[in-house]
Amino acid sequence: MSTVLQTHELVRTFGGFVATDHVNLAVEAGARHALIGPNGAGKTTLINLLTGYLEPTEGRVVLNGEDVTRMAQHERCRRGLVRTFQINQLFADMTVLESVAMAVAERHGLGTRWWKPLAAQAEAVDEAAQILQRLGLLSDAYERTRNLAYGRQRLIEIALALAQRPRVLLLDEPAAGVPTSESRELFEVIAQLPREVTILLIEHDMDLVFRFAERISVLVSGALLVEDTPEVIARHPRVRQVYLGEG
Ligand code: ADP
Ligand code: MG
Repeated sequence: MSTVLQTHELVRTFGGFVATDHVNLAVEAGARHALIGPNGAGKTTLINLLTGYLEPTEGRVVLNGEDVTRMAQHERCRRGLVRTFQINQLFADMTVLESVAMAVAERHGLGTRWWKPLAAQAEAVDEAAQILQRLGLLSDAYERTRNLAYGRQRLIEIALALAQRPRVLLLDEPAAGVPTSESRELFEVIAQLPREVTILLIEHDMDLVFRFAERISVLVSGALLVEDTPEVIARHPRVRQVYLGEG
């Protein structure tokens, strides 16, 4: 297996506070990797350092063997490092198919003139429809995004991310705010994404994490406590103590 995404001694401080503490994280190609840890452990900060939303105080981020530590977010995105983002107002007023087709068109560099060349439009719509089918969203293609149930809206966020053709997809609590009845379905869809998309996911619901992940990294107070298989993590005394509140 090869490593697609890696951090070397990554540090991020806010004033005197150490939010990321010499983190060495390695995500293998095709991984279903989860990042867990208590509230405030630094999970979101780590994702922000990976995407380039935040600059590290020290250390390096390496994507497919290339040092991207100082690279802008859109440059990392072009290299296949993609995170989901919340549906904005523009997308909320569009239909599901329009939103995803627009994201595909943007990737092709067609920008806001995406409807101009008819062939390109048809291609973008075709690709968008394929993404919707993969996520079980095709039946909602002509609905306005804002009219969908919350769980479906979170799926559209994943559809918009897939439109970027990610090699590594970063999901920060993809089921946040989604009712339990819908979150299981959401995770089933995520689990069925093709293996060429490596997934690093943050989730606080342990049932969902243990069902999804093959590899789990536990972050505590900004530092990696342990990284292993779900079986080992579930039995790890320190993890049970700090994370599951035992002992
Ligand atoms: P998690 O996602 O694991 O809940 P975060 O990464 O959001 O944790 O936050 C980790 C710690 O860093 C928290 O104590 C938080 O208050 C702090 N933190 C995060 N972002 C900032 C910021 N921009 N300025 C100051 N402190 C921050
Ligand atoms: Mg967070």
